[in-house]
Amino acid sequence: MASHWLAAAQAICGADYVVDGPAIEPRYLEPARYAPGCAAGLVRPATGEQVAALVRLCIEHALVLVPQGAHTGLVRAGTPTDGERHLLLSTDRLREVFEFDPLDRTLRVSAGYRLSEVNERLAEHGLSFAVDLSADPSIGGMLAHNTGGTRMLRHGDVRANVLGLTAVLGEGQVLRLGRGLQKDNAGLALQQLLIGSSGALGIVCEAVLRLQPLPRQRAVALVAVSSLDAVFPLYQQVMGSELAGLVSAFEGISRPALEAGVRGGRSPFEGPLPEYALLIELASELPAARLNLNALLLEQLEQAFGTLVADAVVGADEAIWGLRHSISEGLREQGRVIGFDISLPRRYFMRFRAEASAWLASEFPPARVADFGHLGDGGLHFNLVWPHGEAPPDAQRLRDGVYAIVAALGGSFSAEHGVGPQVQDSYWAWTDPAVQALSGAVERVFDPRDIFGTTCFGPKNNAIVLSLRR
Ligand SMILES: Cc1cc2nc3c(=O)[nH]c(=O)nc-3n(C[C@H](O)[C@H](O)[C@H](O)COP(=O)(O)OP(=O)(O)OC[C@H]3O[C@@H](n4cnc5c(N)ncnc54)[C@H](O)[C@@H]3O)c2cc1C
Repeated sequence: MASHWLAAAQAICGADYVVDGPAIEPRYLEPARYAPGCAAGLVRPATGEQVAALVRLCIEHALVLVPQGAHTGLVRAGTPTDGERHLLLSTDRLREVFEFDPLDRTLRVSAGYRLSEVNERLAEHGLSFAVDLSADPSIGGMLAHNTGGTRMLRHGDVRANVLGLTAVLGEGQVLRLGRGLQKDNAGLALQQLLIGSSGALGIVCEAVLRLQPLPRQRAVALVAVSSLDAVFPLYQQVMGSELAGLVSAFEGISRPALEAGVRGGRSPFEGPLPEYALLIELASELPAARLNLNALLLEQLEQAFGTLVADAVVGADEAIWGLRHSISEGLREQGRVIGFDISLPRRYFMRFRAEASAWLASEFPPARVADFGHLGDGGLHFNLVWPHGEAPPDAQRLRDGVYAIVAALGGSFSAEHGVGPQVQDSYWAWTDPAVQALSGAVERVFDPRDIFGTTCFGPKNNAIVLSLRR
C-alpha cells in the first residue's frame, strides 16, 4: 500500500524529501508537551505547486494530510496520530518567497520561514513582525493558530497583522486571498477564515505580513501589587494615563508561578514573593535620549506606591522576561502540568480565579493552581500542577468543571492556542451548535473531501446544517 503513494510523492518532492513512517525523525512526531504521534510518512515540499500535487495524491490514495510548521503548537493539532492514513506535510522547505516592500512596510513570505529568521532579516530595516512569543514558530503555523503572544495588547494577534495569503485548498486548487493592501474592502475577507483554522481548511504556502517599527527602547517593571484587588485598578490607572499608547505588555503572575520562574533563586523583590505580580512593559521608537521610558514607568508606579503597588523592580528587562519565560519549564519540574488557555472579560478575572480555585480545592485537592498570563488582553494560562506520584485525575471531569466556570463568566476555552485534538471535546461541548454547524459548512467548502488536518470545526453529517437552513 505505502509504496504506491511513496513513489508518487517522491516524484513530486524529490526522493530525499519523502520518507515512510518508521524513518521519520522523532522531532516531527514529538509535540512540545504531549506524547509522540505516528504517521504513514513524511513529505517536505518546497513549492506551492508541490503542495497542490500532494493534495491530489492524498485524494487518490485516501490519505489525510497533516500540515506541520515548527511543531510548537500546544493543542496537538500538528501531530499526526494515524500510522496508516496520516501523511505529515512539513513546511520547513517552503522558503521560496521573501519579498520585502519598504514603502508599504509589508513582507510577502513563504510559510516555512521561522519567526526568528523573519525578524532577524527585518531588523536591519528597523521593522519587525510584531507578534511575539517565547517559542520560535513558523509563519504558516502562526497563521493557522492565530498566535497571540506577549505583546498582543499593543500590536494585536496574527489576524490583525496579515494582509493576504496564498493557500492550497482541498481539491488541490491554489487560491490567493487578499492583495496585501492596507485597505481593501472589495469583497469578503476569506483569508480570515484560514487564519485560526488549525490546518483544517487548507495549507498556507505564503502570507503577506504587516510590519511594525522596531522599538529603540523598552522599559520593563516587575511589580508586586499590594493585594489581588489592586491588579485591575493598577491596570486602569496605567491604561488611563498618558503612557497608555506606550504599553506593550501587561502580564500577570501568581505567587506559585513566580516561584516556578525564580526556580529556587532569590526573590527579585526586597521581601518574599508577593501573592501576585505584574510585568509591565513600555516600548517606544524614540531613543532613550529623547524619551526616558524607565523614568516614566518609575514615576507612574511611584504614584501608586503604598496603595496599589507594594514593591517594584524596574529596568532589568532581560532578567524579568527571563523569569516570565521560565515559568512553564519550572512548573513542569514540580509535577504534571494541566494547562487551560482561557480568556475572560477583565471584570471577571479575579472572580474566575477565586471560584475555580475553590472548586478545585474541594473536588481535586492535589491540584495546585499556578496561573499566569497575558492579563492585559484578558488571557490567562490557568495552569495546575498535579504532583508526581498522585494517581492522575479524571481529566474529563476536571476540564468540564473548569470550563463550566469559564463559560458562566462569559469566557473562552481557547484564548490563543487554537483548536486541536487536545481541546476538540471542549470545542464540541462549549461552542454554540449553530456556530459549529456553520463552521462545518465552511469546512466542507474549503475541504470537501475531508483531507486536511487533525482538527474538526463542524459535525461530519449535514443534519444540523440542514435544520439551520430551514
Ligand atoms: C514555549 C512556548 C511558548 C508559546 N507561547 C505562545 C504565546 O505566547 N501565544 C500563542 O498564541 N502561542 C504560544 N505558543 C504556541 C505556538 O508557538 C503557536 O501556536 C504557534 O503559532 C505554532 O506555530 P508552529 O509553526 O509551531 O505550528 P505547528 O505546531 O507546527 O502547527 C500548529 C497548527 O498549524 C497547522 N499548520 C502549520 N503550518 C501550516 C500551514 N502552512 N498551513 C496550514 N496549517 C498549518 C498545523 O496543522 C497545526 O494545526 C507557545 C508554544 C511554546 C512551546
